[in-house]
Amino acid sequence: MKAYHMSIDDLSKQLQTNLETGLNASQVEKRQKQDGENKLEEAKKKTNLEKFIDQFKDAMIIILLIAAAISFGLAFQEKESSAFFEPLLILFIVIVNAIMGVFQENKAEKSLAALMSLSSPKARVIRDGQESLIDAKELVVGDLIQLEAGDFIPADARIISSSSLKSEESALTGESVPVDKSPEIVEENATIGDRKNMLYSGCSITYGTAKAIVTDIGMQTEMGKIAHLLNNEEDDKTPLQEKLAELGRKLGMMAIAICIVIFAIGLWYGMPIIEIFMTSVSLAVSAIPEGLPVIVTIVLSIGVGKMAQRNAIVKKLPAVETLGSTSIICSDKTGTLTQNKMTLIKAYIPKLGLEDISNHNSPLVLKLLKYGTLCSNGSVTIDNEKEEHIGDPTETSIIAATIKNHISLDELHQQYPRLFELPFDSNRKLMSVIVKEGDHYLVITKGACDELIKRCIESQDEILSITEQLSQQALRVLAVAYKRLDTFPDNPTIESLECDLTFLGLVGMIDPPRQEAKEAVATCLKAGIKPIMITGDHITTASAIAKELGIMQENDEAITGSELATLSDEQFQQRIQNISVYARVSPEDKIRVVKAWQKQNAIVSMTGDGVNDAPALKASDIGCAMGITGTDVAKGAADLTLMDDNFATIVAAVKQGRGIYQNIRKTVGYLLGTNIGEVLLVFVAMLVFKQAPLLSMQLLWVNLVTDGMPAIALGMEAIENDVMDESPRPKDESIFAHHLGERIILQGFLFGGLSLFAFWFAQTTLHSLTAGRTLCFMVLSLSQVFQSYNMRSHLSLFKIGVFTNHYLNKAALVSFALMAIVLFIPPLATIFGLTFLPFSYYLIGLGLSMSPILIIEIFKFFHILH
Ligand code: ATP
Repeated sequence: MKAYHMSIDDLSKQLQTNLETGLNASQVEKRQKQDGENKLEEAKKKTNLEKFIDQFKDAMIIILLIAAAISFGLAFQEKESSAFFEPLLILFIVIVNAIMGVFQENKAEKSLAALMSLSSPKARVIRDGQESLIDAKELVVGDLIQLEAGDFIPADARIISSSSLKSEESALTGESVPVDKSPEIVEENATIGDRKNMLYSGCSITYGTAKAIVTDIGMQTEMGKIAHLLNNEEDDKTPLQEKLAELGRKLGMMAIAICIVIFAIGLWYGMPIIEIFMTSVSLAVSAIPEGLPVIVTIVLSIGVGKMAQRNAIVKKLPAVETLGSTSIICSDKTGTLTQNKMTLIKAYIPKLGLEDISNHNSPLVLKLLKYGTLCSNGSVTIDNEKEEHIGDPTETSIIAATIKNHISLDELHQQYPRLFELPFDSNRKLMSVIVKEGDHYLVITKGACDELIKRCIESQDEILSITEQLSQQALRVLAVAYKRLDTFPDNPTIESLECDLTFLGLVGMIDPPRQEAKEAVATCLKAGIKPIMITGDHITTASAIAKELGIMQENDEAITGSELATLSDEQFQQRIQNISVYARVSPEDKIRVVKAWQKQNAIVSMTGDGVNDAPALKASDIGCAMGITGTDVAKGAADLTLMDDNFATIVAAVKQGRGIYQNIRKTVGYLLGTNIGEVLLVFVAMLVFKQAPLLSMQLLWVNLVTDGMPAIALGMEAIENDVMDESPRPKDESIFAHHLGERIILQGFLFGGLSLFAFWFAQTTLHSLTAGRTLCFMVLSLSQVFQSYNMRSHLSLFKIGVFTNHYLNKAALVSFALMAIVLFIPPLATIFGLTFLPFSYYLIGLGLSMSPILIIEIFKFFHILH
């Protein structure tokens, strides 16, 4: 029989689950062995061999292979063994290149997979009578699970008990309006959408709470049945990666055009066809920055790993880029800007006036605390002054004060058993319960005073003025009210319960600002980023804290959600620049704020934790979900998860985002500069000297072997100290802005000019073409390695410390070694068409190669192009 058509008792018998204590450990172990993990099957991952083969799909590599094949063919004809070196070397380089490609792809994949596992879905399960949080994939059929608003449903489950439960099932049924759910049996032929007592994997809880028993897991769930294989390998290219790929294509076309010209020049001068062909092909390979997209991905994934260490988990790579452009950070207050460590310090009772909270409060205050506690969830244990709170700090602070006043919670709950709950939600800003008191019932409601007082029979003025007074001291104020019912209502609703209440009193709690938030706000202001507080709390409380943190400056305004509602879009646009605090807002208001700022071309980051925050998180450019207090739904909608719920973490992530972008610019600049240099060298030499300045093998060696490592190492450069001193980068700013384009060209001319000079000098003075190529090869590869140091910063190398990037030091050493091997080991030198030079020539080569450092240092000193 279908789980939704059975009684709960029958189902629990069939699944052998105890409805109170859940499954026991041995049942779980047996079922896990039998049914496997609770997850949808993933599409097969590419094997290393497939990845290796993929590396050869690049057009340039194919051209190289064709060149190698032609060169092989000629070698066979010549029947001379030395003729085989060239094609073999090309093959070797291509294979080494492909292996490196696979290696790097795997590394980037691994670091991203590690990140994914940090944000894998969790489930709250009851096993052996204990409630715990486990990875959703460990669930088995028969497990008892607890769910609340904001949770993703981890498996198909039958509801045992629920309170005001609603679930959003659009992923399964297409219906985007949340549906009511409850435990009653439904008929056998009900469609999925009508099975009100079932919760389905992949959907979410939008309201209320539930306890349910798992009926199906993994591919057996309804989602598993319809889902095609889950393809995790979605290709999430960032706008920058796409732009670079496009640039690569354009440069490729240009390079091919240049090759054709060079080929024509060679033919014109009557050079051997095979030599011109090989030179053109190797030049094409050198001119195209084919390594760029891979290197950018590596730099991005390394950056993402660093952000994770700093508690910011990036879900989508494009977010890293957007982070660097962030110009507005909208942040919740409670827990993000403040510590979320609430302590009750004030109470107000109309007949009594204001009283400090102590361990010996008067009876009326005790009644306020008791009623507040009855309308709260969570638990507090106090052991030798050490307190442990589990649950919402707003509520546990009330419970803690009650315990400290020597009231036994067990007795309290026995005396007033809870029969019904209308959960807190941040739109209503209220929470209500019905408890039994003797032979009648009590409705107790607590929440934001301005909302609650409207539903009370008392006059509002005095109470609101006390609320204002407490709020000015940065206290969070909560009101408590109640009413008596003679009978339990048939259909308890918000409208019927939360009206005609009797006001009981107010409590005021402190929630100190986070120290690090204050510093982070200062960093934002310096970096041209406007921090904005968006909170459900009272406007006066919010403003007091915003002032303390520096978010609210002299001419800034605070506005409430209801005032915002009265503003037209135009009026809002006119005032938006000055508003730094939005108080008493509902999650829907957040979307309006995001869109209004986006209209002003701002890049907006927005935080959120609840189900209702998901649309605002999606609408913002960088949605940040809270890792600790955030719901699964909010995390699902966000681009970034803050593992410590801390405002300072967003600012640190923005800094990383800026740093990563800066490093990508360095890498791009370096690689393009080397490419331009190589093209210029060959082009001018062919034109002027009618000779190829480097053999194809030499060109390939420099381009594919020696300059890749420094490029990656540049991407790992530490973030520059002044990265947060500039205003945010406009989102559509070209990567070549701030003179990078000019610097690349300058670099190209430097490399090209120096190696051309080396070629001419050694050839004319030593009367040997091979000697000319040897010095040219040395200068080209060495100067590139030295240039990578120049690219490290816009500041002088001596200011940032010449050897402070140890990745670059290692990369430079390896590059030197690779160059030295072919220069100085006799058989290799011969294969590469190189020869020994008089010692003084090596010194000249070294001097020439190091000269860019001097030149660029002079440029930096006079701030030319920097
Ligand atoms: P932020 O949006 O910055 O996190 P917040 O926590 O104050 O701030 P909400 O959680 O939406 O925002 O709370 C709004 C108001 O609702 C609070 O100012 C408080 O008066 C009231 N409130 C908060 N928590 C509860 C609760 N558990 N029960 C009843 N009322 C609450």
